Amino acid sequence: MTTSWLDEFPARVAELDRAHLRRQRRVVVPDSAAEGGARLVVDGQSMLAFCSNDYLGLAQYPRLVKAACDAAQVYGVGSGSSPMVSGHSAANAALELELAAFVGLPRALYFYAGFATNISIVPALVGPGDAIFSDALNHACLIDGARLSRAQIHRFAHADLAALEHQLAQSTAARKLVMSDAVFSMDGDSADIVALLNLCERYDALLLLDDAHGFGVVGPQGRGSLAQARLSGLKFSRRILYMATLGKAAGVAGAFVAGDDALVEWLLQKTRSYTFATAAPAMLASALRASLEIIQQDDWRRAHLQRLIARLRTGLTAGLEGSGWQLSKSQTPIQPLLIGRNDEALAVMEGLLASGLWVPAIRPPTVPEGTARLRIALSAAHTEADIDQLVNALSLLAQAFRSSPVTSC
Ligand SMILES: *Cc1c(COP(=O)(O)O)cnc(C)c1O
Repeated sequence: MTTSWLDEFPARVAELDRAHLRRQRRVVVPDSAAEGGARLVVDGQSMLAFCSNDYLGLAQYPRLVKAACDAAQVYGVGSGSSPMVSGHSAANAALELELAAFVGLPRALYFYAGFATNISIVPALVGPGDAIFSDALNHACLIDGARLSRAQIHRFAHADLAALEHQLAQSTAARKLVMSDAVFSMDGDSADIVALLNLCERYDALLLLDDAHGFGVVGPQGRGSLAQARLSGLKFSRRILYMATLGKAAGVAGAFVAGDDALVEWLLQKTRSYTFATAAPAMLASALRASLEIIQQDDWRRAHLQRLIARLRTGLTAGLEGSGWQLSKSQTPIQPLLIGRNDEALAVMEGLLASGLWVPAIRPPTVPEGTARLRIALSAAHTEADIDQLVNALSLLAQAFRSSPVTSC
């Protein structure tokens, strides 16, 4: 009997198991007995979740739900076709105008998903013979977009702008694209956007910023990382292509790019995931329009979030002293706790699950080898008591691990 490579899959999955790299999904339902969305029912048990990117607690907010339902009455639930055919609803068109105004750039284009946006806009911008300069900790979809473009990729060490400048100075490519997360998704730290923009000016490069984790959360009224760096407005728009996702702080789904009029028009013409994909449904665009209003109005959500971040950091700094577990220097709702080994990070996650707390362990290849971590994500839906519960549980686990460390490997 001949063997086929198709017979290898069981062994390949078993190999993931052995390396503690097999991922499991959990089936969740929001806990209807709790308000706000920070509690999920997982396998019949109510868990306090610290794993959602719903930073402002908007994903189940009644005004958004109502906006989606009202729009469904008018438009139905599906868009039917690409935005280039008949999928570009009045709701989607209105949302684009509001997004552009909100981030202070001339024009915006609304996509059905962030991953699809990045893998496809990069090849629309640069190609063979051009050069891409990419922070080593950029999100997977920027990296995949760069690969698809077949431009030459220069990876610089995380946040190492001297290395970036060296690479830019050496490059003879006519078209240069610098790309960076604005807030890094697994570390919670922020890029130095002003310095990046200055380098782009000096070397005639375009700056693509992915603000998936800053939009709604940072800057005045949650206008994002550009506003936080005081960079919105026409003066800067030519050098910047701003991208943000709408399934995180905005609480719904999708993404957008914003920038100079001609640049956005080019992307509208040439981005394959825009042209050859079904448009986002109007009910989602309508929920997003409601979300934008709340993001602007509800400063209390960001203020509350900042108080929670401070409370967590103070609590863990005291509670984890001497544990060897390291809280990252993040100011954002992404608060990673570096553990190191994959098996230890998993064991801590399991320990928290046993006390009804859900904090995901993040392992390679999502993060570099030897930096397995718990990614604690805070939300305005959390209460101070929720934070205290997590701090206490982690402090107890740290003590337990010190007296009997994980030894299996
Ligand atoms: C989540 C994320 C994306 C992908 O966005 P989706 O809308 O979830 O597809 C892109 N970039 C970054 C930095 C992200 O964290």
